[in-house]
Amino acid sequence: MSPKVFIKTFGCQMNVYDSERIAGLLQGCGYELAPDSAAADVILLNTCSIREKPEHKIYSILGRLKEYKDANPSIILGVGGCVAQQEGERLFEKAPHLDLVFGTHTIDRLPELLKQVQTERIRVCRTAMQEEGYSDEGVCRSVSPGVSAYVSIIRGCNNYCSFCVVPYVRGREKSRPQEDIIKEVDHLCRQGVKEVTLLGQNVNSYGKDAGTPGSFPRLLAAVNEVEGIERLRFITSHPRDLGDDLIRCFGELDKLCEHIHLPVQSGSDKILRLMNRGYTRDDYLAKVERLRRVCPAIAITSDVIVGFPRETDEDFEETLKLMEEVRFDDLFSFNYSDRPMTAALRFEGKISPEVKAERLARLLEIQNDYSVARNRMLLDAEEEVLVEGISKKDPRRVTGKTRSNKTVVAEGREELAGRLVSVRIRSVTAHTLSGDIAC
Ligand code: SAM
Ligand code: SF4
Repeated sequence: MSPKVFIKTFGCQMNVYDSERIAGLLQGCGYELAPDSAAADVILLNTCSIREKPEHKIYSILGRLKEYKDANPSIILGVGGCVAQQEGERLFEKAPHLDLVFGTHTIDRLPELLKQVQTERIRVCRTAMQEEGYSDEGVCRSVSPGVSAYVSIIRGCNNYCSFCVVPYVRGREKSRPQEDIIKEVDHLCRQGVKEVTLLGQNVNSYGKDAGTPGSFPRLLAAVNEVEGIERLRFITSHPRDLGDDLIRCFGELDKLCEHIHLPVQSGSDKILRLMNRGYTRDDYLAKVERLRRVCPAIAITSDVIVGFPRETDEDFEETLKLMEEVRFDDLFSFNYSDRPMTAALRFEGKISPEVKAERLARLLEIQNDYSVARNRMLLDAEEEVLVEGISKKDPRRVTGKTRSNKTVVAEGREELAGRLVSVRIRSVTAHTLSGDIAC
């Protein structure tokens, strides 16, 4: 009987992508995917350490799994991803029942590491960072990728924003060769994928490490031409590096969807400087203006950190003012949390949890109104929707996304999955549009 593996993913799209690679790799070595941990011989947690909360969550899950492991000692328990990279061997002290720790650069070696745990019955930790090339060749994904898929184009980050742990746990930027990316997109489209999202912490850096800066718009143009692709997206573009050549792509490439995630983090120049972001609020606003000039229908979403060290009420008001000027379609907002190894960890002027919570609540309420107002602009419009499948909340309805990346629900059947349909929007909330399928 084939051994069964259960993979639990936490955090960003990069981890979702890595988990798909892990699944594909292990399936290629004879493993089957288990639907839950109770059915598994191997349990792998692919973890996130971007903020304090998700990291703590891992420790509490590991705590809960101790009893399970004590009762089922033959089970192999592994932790991968950013917490594994950050903590390494220390994880064995925190969770002595753990068998395997694998870092962000050791996914390709997982089958071998699992074998070592099984045959030698020892604990194994591998967190070395490969600084040489980046190729996902030979690492196929798990079967049935669905309607929409992520494709990694660059890993790591060289930006060292003062709050962010990513450069320490994901390493230096490494671009993936363009031919590998095109091959993967082509393969996915042949399997029925209609929408591809190109992934990187800063896609604008694509090609820089290989001595070909500014290659990202060229890559987008090449992916736009892959046969069978209906929609193209990317995430994330750093505002400092968003150039006119990339902005022009929104007016030129027919598959590139009208949505950009452009994390601003703060509206205060003082805080942006402390964050080491490399742009001012005016630079940011100018780029938003250029984007809207080239592509009036573009939806703009962003990330904001609330309560960064030394953020005064006035700095916070600057963020609210920027939100009022931009009117983001959606905003992901987070309370600042100290992260190991980062510069901001040592900053003075930390903000109390109460003040952070109060600012976050205020920001969320304001953004909610903006999201509703932006969505109301689509009332009675006919929107192209890529249907993903049946709605989890209502089996009589299907769910999908507009080109502007908004979630839509409409009456319809499973067979519509993977189809582009036209939906007349009848009502909206901050996060969902509802409508009728017109054709
Ligand atoms: N590469 C993207 C960029 O340049 O904006 C962001 C990637 S990060 C995985 C996602 C978001 O997490 C960031 O945009 C930021 O808002 C948030 N974040 C990162 N570190 C944080 C921290 N220490 N505390 C709170 N939020 C944090
Ligand atoms: Fe983190 Fe900044 Fe890199 Fe984004 S650009 S991953 S926030 S260091």
